[in-house]
Amino acid sequence: MTSFHKSYVGLCPTCGKHCYLTKQDAKAIRRRMPHDEHLSVYRCGQYWHLGNLPKPVISGRIDRSKILPPRRRTR
Ligand SMILES: [Zn+2]
Repeated sequence: MTSFHKSYVGLCPTCGKHCYLTKQDAKAIRRRMPHDEHLSVYRCGQYWHLGNLPKPVISGRIDRSKILPPRRRTR
């Protein structure tokens, strides 16, 4: 069973994960999940994902920023 949050916007075209509009909403979803041990909230494009980071990132082989689009510097 999957309960959808109002902030749920569908599957990510890039990686296929569920997308949420805001970081706060993704965290709210995580709080409702039965097992939240290794779930992390992270950004992908303009949305937020909830889930495990790719194994190379967890093991520290690559940096998290390598799999995310670079942020625009605003200053
Ligand atoms: Zn994604």
